[in-house]
Amino acid sequence: MSTVGETVFEVDLNALRHNYEYLRSELRPGTKFLAVVKAYAYGHGAPPIALFLEKLGVDYFAVAYTGEGVELREAGVQAPIIVLHPQPVHFEEIIAHRLEPSLYSEEVLQRFAVTAGNGGLREYPVHLKFNTGLNRLGFDAGDVDKVVSFLEQHQAVKPVSLFSHLAASEDPEERDFSRVQISAFKQIADRFEHLAGFRPLLHQCNTSGILCYPEAHFDMVRSGIGLYGYGNDAIHSARLRPIGTLKSVISQLHRLEKGESLGYNRGFIAERPTITATLPLGHADGIGRPYGKGKSHVSVNGQPARILGNVCMDMLMIDVTGIDCSEGDEVIIFGKDPSAEELAATAGTISYELVTAISRRVKRSYK
Ligand code: PLP
Repeated sequence: MSTVGETVFEVDLNALRHNYEYLRSELRPGTKFLAVVKAYAYGHGAPPIALFLEKLGVDYFAVAYTGEGVELREAGVQAPIIVLHPQPVHFEEIIAHRLEPSLYSEEVLQRFAVTAGNGGLREYPVHLKFNTGLNRLGFDAGDVDKVVSFLEQHQAVKPVSLFSHLAASEDPEERDFSRVQISAFKQIADRFEHLAGFRPLLHQCNTSGILCYPEAHFDMVRSGIGLYGYGNDAIHSARLRPIGTLKSVISQLHRLEKGESLGYNRGFIAERPTITATLPLGHADGIGRPYGKGKSHVSVNGQPARILGNVCMDMLMIDVTGIDCSEGDEVIIFGKDPSAEELAATAGTISYELVTAISRRVKRSYK
């Protein structure tokens, strides 16, 4: 059978195009599309993903930290890049790389305006983040008046957008809460426009927001997980295509007799003769210990194989008893079957955590 010969995270760019086009098709014509490519494009490799999406017509990108934005600029991404969670210590670097900060408090707004003003800049593009219930980062509704009056006195910065983030857009039981957030955001935007005399771009929806709250698409939407192929629920996931398949390979097969143990701390004891396969993939690659102890399955030649015992730093062992396989055969860690969502659930987590945890030493390949 064909094999990749090493652990590889394969990314299907056609699937990425499909997801982008599907998400776009949910929007009114003219709505802008921001691709969230923070955390190394959710593990898929930010520069190639962003360059591909830029060619497809994505309007904006967002990263979490300044260094992630610098990496995209150095790779040649030209579109505007929002830094969602910048630190003042990086403000000069942000300006030097034409990145656009999300500003979320009076202190941060003031410090950025001073940095931009000291550089002789006028109307440097910034994005103002408002808290409508996530209670994580952002100005509160009551801050609008102060923000507008500050902006009137400081022309070094100009808000290109006002935005907020939904706390539970994927949760049907929290629809009322999401609606309150949407209406709070509208009020903030109206007040801002009333006081400032202009209306920046408005955006509030992440992927599940796009799919579940069309009334909140406003001028732009921000999608991360949907682009990578996960819809947060069965109906939407079925319309998207996971773009990443994590593959590994069998380095060695072992036969354990009844009573023999496997791996560190003797994390698995064979209750019967057991054939195990060792893979070059471990917790330092992003498959952590919670996937061990028989809770999670990977796929060997189309058959499920349990991850046994304790996952090591660079290796893990699976049960291939009764599976027709040889050293050198390919193993699917996640992709179609199991999906990242299914595998993540076995470790009590979500696809976001699984894909973003795949470490940089795992080779990415694109087709
Ligand atoms: N907007 C903001 C501010 C975010 O922090 C994120 C991701 O966490 C997103 C949008 C994208 O969310 P999703 O991946 O659910 O589409």
